[in-house]
Amino acid sequence: MNDILPDEAGLWLWFEDIVREWLESYGYRNVRMPLLEQTALFKRAIGEVTDIVEKEMYSFTDELNGDELTLRPEGTASCVRAVLEHNLLYNAPRRLYYSGPMFRHERPQKGRYRQFHQVGVEALGFAGPDIDAEMILMCARLWRKLGIHDVSLQINTLGDTAARHRHREKLIAYFERHQDALDADAQRRLHSNPLRILDSKNPSMQDLISGAPRLMAELDEEALRHFDAVQEILCRHDVAYEVNPRLVRGLDYYNRTVFEWVTTKLGAQGTICAGGRFDGLIEQIGGKPAPACGFAMGIERLLALLQENGMESPPAPLDVYVVHQGEQADGIAHVVAEQLRDAGLKVLLHCGGGNFKSQMKKADGSNATCAVIMGDDEAIAREATLKPLRGGEQVRVALTELPHRIHELIKQ
Ligand code: ATP
Ligand code: MG
Repeated sequence: MNDILPDEAGLWLWFEDIVREWLESYGYRNVRMPLLEQTALFKRAIGEVTDIVEKEMYSFTDELNGDELTLRPEGTASCVRAVLEHNLLYNAPRRLYYSGPMFRHERPQKGRYRQFHQVGVEALGFAGPDIDAEMILMCARLWRKLGIHDVSLQINTLGDTAARHRHREKLIAYFERHQDALDADAQRRLHSNPLRILDSKNPSMQDLISGAPRLMAELDEEALRHFDAVQEILCRHDVAYEVNPRLVRGLDYYNRTVFEWVTTKLGAQGTICAGGRFDGLIEQIGGKPAPACGFAMGIERLLALLQENGMESPPAPLDVYVVHQGEQADGIAHVVAEQLRDAGLKVLLHCGGGNFKSQMKKADGSNATCAVIMGDDEAIAREATLKPLRGGEQVRVALTELPHRIHELIKQ
């Protein structure tokens, strides 16, 4: 779990502004859920036999009342819980987004942390391939906005329940025939969640996995048509993609379309954004059946990719540093600073005293465009000295003129 210090937080703020504008341009509305939920919610939604539920959740018993609680490892389950609790789907579908910390007890390494941050985007109550494709197009637009070029898109379809069931039976039979080649994880999952064996990163099992029965062969016509329609929209918009039949995702609730945006620039942790359709989840959490689709981006990985591309944290924005010394000047410094803020300027008022020289040093070291300098002379005359900090002559200006003059300086 990391602290994000001010120098780095500048990049986060910049990113968050872009993301918000981007989401609003697609009509998504913000929703904010608690960081804690009942443990049962995640077990039910994510699936008992998944990495997250088996070994990554921070779960505890609330000693005050015996509640079983978990720090959210992802946002979809919480979002759906909130939507159902407040009956938000009663007359229309919803496009919602959230962002914030998620918690998973993983082995910390580059791009993998125990508290990390996601932007989550959910479209609830939409059945068609149009929304799946829109989500992917949305991502492509965000990458363009951020100046990210080195990501590629992988998609797959997981089909519907019946096809998955048929596939599951075939997978179990296949892996049973090759029991000796299975590692411990796969052995354990053979009967509980054989699909996840396909997701294994164990090099010694890759040959076995590539020979496994394909889900694609089991898909019914409707699911195939849905997948084709998604691809058609992507093609129409020139979004390049690769169909990866091994893309299964780590959470049980997905069906039909799934996708991941992957980069090769971040080593092993290359997935910056992942999502898909989860038509069964709403009903599973206790709502009336309703289809849905969503995705989540890992903010740390996205920012790491931007930094990899040479992006630096923008400096803290500051227009004015107010320097003041003397009884009269100190007496009006707050008033002057407040007036400048009234005029829409970002103002740092020197606090803590010190002589002109030491205060000017601080002004020079700040990112301010200019310093406003006041001694008693200026204060009595209702004036201040305006000093550009990036070159230019200083001038004496009436206090009434000051905001206007500073705005002119900033425009230059
Ligand atoms: P991975 O295969 O890397 O473990 P995942 O399938 O567990 O990812 P999701 O649950 O789909 O990840 O989460 C969506 C995104 O959130 C990921 O693509 C990644 O960018 C980010 N993410 C997931 N886990 C972490 C983590 N522990 N630290 C940082 N980012 C993470
Ligand atoms: Mg994971």
